[in-house]
Amino acid sequence: MPKGSVAITTERCKGCGFCVEFCPTHVLELSNAFNAKGYHPPHMLNAEKCSGCNLCGMYCPDFAIFGYKYPDQKAQKGEQGQ
Ligand code: SF4
Ligand code: SF4
Repeated sequence: MPKGSVAITTERCKGCGFCVEFCPTHVLELSNAFNAKGYHPPHMLNAEKCSGCNLCGMYCPDFAIFGYKYPDQKAQKGEQGQ
């Protein structure tokens, strides 16, 4: 189970690749697709490795991505019936 995920606003992205470069667990890669500005936005290559640390968000100059942690799985056990 991944501990977190990212939200990507592809239209804000300028394809600089900082998020890809600085992710400690190599979750991201630049997509082959283009956004409306002609840049390659990131997508999740290894989603299961995301910790939600938000380093990608801290390095993104355009506020196009941020990471977030999922709620504590133990605390959710009862609700999810797992
Ligand atoms: S939140 Fe952290 S682990 Fe997830 S993609 Fe961003 S930098 Fe990588
Ligand atoms: S750091 Fe931001 S602008 Fe650069 S590729 Fe990643 S999402 Fe796009």
